[in-house]
Amino acid sequence: MRVNAYAAPAAGEPLAPTTIERRDVGPNDVLIEIEYAGICHSDIHTVNGDWGPQPFPVVPGHEIVGRVTQVGADVDRHHVGDRVGVGCMVNSCGTCASCRRGEEQYCLSGMTPTYAGTDRDGTTTQGGYSTHVVVDADFVLSVPDGLDPAAAAPLLCAGITTYSPLRHWGAGPGKKVAIVGLGGLGHMGVKLAHALGAEVTVLSQSLKKQEDGLRLGADHYYATSDPDTFEQLAGRFDLIVNTVSASIDLNAYLRLLAVDGTMVNVGAPPEALGVRVGTLIGGRRSFAGSAIGGIAQTQEMLDFCAEHGIGAEVEVIGAEKINDAYERVLASDVRYRFVIDASTLR
Ligand code: NAP
Ligand code: ZN
Repeated sequence: MRVNAYAAPAAGEPLAPTTIERRDVGPNDVLIEIEYAGICHSDIHTVNGDWGPQPFPVVPGHEIVGRVTQVGADVDRHHVGDRVGVGCMVNSCGTCASCRRGEEQYCLSGMTPTYAGTDRDGTTTQGGYSTHVVVDADFVLSVPDGLDPAAAAPLLCAGITTYSPLRHWGAGPGKKVAIVGLGGLGHMGVKLAHALGAEVTVLSQSLKKQEDGLRLGADHYYATSDPDTFEQLAGRFDLIVNTVSASIDLNAYLRLLAVDGTMVNVGAPPEALGVRVGTLIGGRRSFAGSAIGGIAQTQEMLDFCAEHGIGAEVEVIGAEKINDAYERVLASDVRYRFVIDASTLR
C-alpha cells in the first residue's frame, strides 16, 4: 500500500512530501488511518543527525492517534473503527527478561523504534507523519473515548516518558517534584505529577511561561537564569525530572536534591554530561535515566489521563507547517506540542 507522508531526505534538510510503502496487513497486524501525529523533539534530533547517522529518508512521528481500518485474522484486542494510538516502539523480542516484565522499551535485543529502525522483516520503519501505518497489534494502544484525539497524540511519547519515571520514583502526596524545561515533555510532567498528588515546581529558563505553568498544575515556578533560584531551592526536591533537550549544568541541579533524592534525565542531548560525584556522595543522591514506558504502563497512563481529564496543550498544524514548527521547537517557542492534522496529508 502506497501512502502519503512527509520525510526528511537527508540530515538537516527540510522535510518534504513523499510517498512510502506500508506492508500488507499480517495476521497480527492492525492498519490505522492516522488522524494526528505529534512533533517530538526526538524527531528533530533524529532528522538533524544529532544522534548519529540515520537511514534516510526518514518519516518521523511516534505520537500517533487514528482509527483502525483493518485487522489481521489473529487480532482480537482491536477492532475496525476503534480509536487507537502508537508510540515510540512497534516491536520487541517478546522473550527476554525486560519484555517478560512488560518493559519492552528495555528489550535486551533492542526494541524496534517506530521510525528509522529495522523491522523484523528487515525493512526500515517509517513513522506517523503519514496517512496510514501498519503495526503489530501488541504495540497498538486503546485511546479511551473521553480523550480528545489531537490532545491524546502527545501522550504516546511525551505523556508516557514523564509518567513512567514519576511512577517509578514514587511521585505522589508528600513528594516534592521538580520538572526542568516546560516544553512538550515538561508540560505533561507538570500535569501528571500534579494529578498524582505531588508538590510540583517548574524550573524554566525564564518566567515567560509562569502563568501557564501554574495553570497546568505547578505549585511553584522559578527561572533558572536567576542564580538565586539555585540558592533558594538547595536540598529541596525528592525527584527532579530533567526534560531539557540541550546539555545543562547537571551539578547545579543535583544540589537541589534532598538526601536520597533522584534526578532523572529524560532529555536526550547528544553530548556527554559531567556529573561531580561529590554532589551525589554528599546526599546519597542518584542520577538516573528513563526511556518512554512499557506497553502496559502506556495503557495505564492513557486510562489515567482519561480518568483525570488530562491531554496535551496542542497547536494543531497542517503538514506544510512541519518545518516551521521544527524551528519554533528549537527556539523553545512551543506551547506546548505541535500536532500534525494528518488529513492535510491526503
Ligand atoms: P521541547 O518541547 O523542545 O522541550 C524542551 C524544553 O527544554 C524547552 O521547551 C525549554 O524549556 C528547555 N530548553 C531547551 N533548550 C534549553 C537550553 N539550552 N537550556 C535550558 N533549557 C532548555 O522538547 P521535548 O519534545 O519535550 O523533548 C525534550 C527532550 O526529551 C529531547 O531531548 C527529546 O529527545 C527527549 N526525549 C526523550 C525521551 C525518552 O524516552 N527519554 C522521550 C521523548 C523525548 P523552557 O523554555 O521552559 O526552559
Ligand atoms: Zn518522542
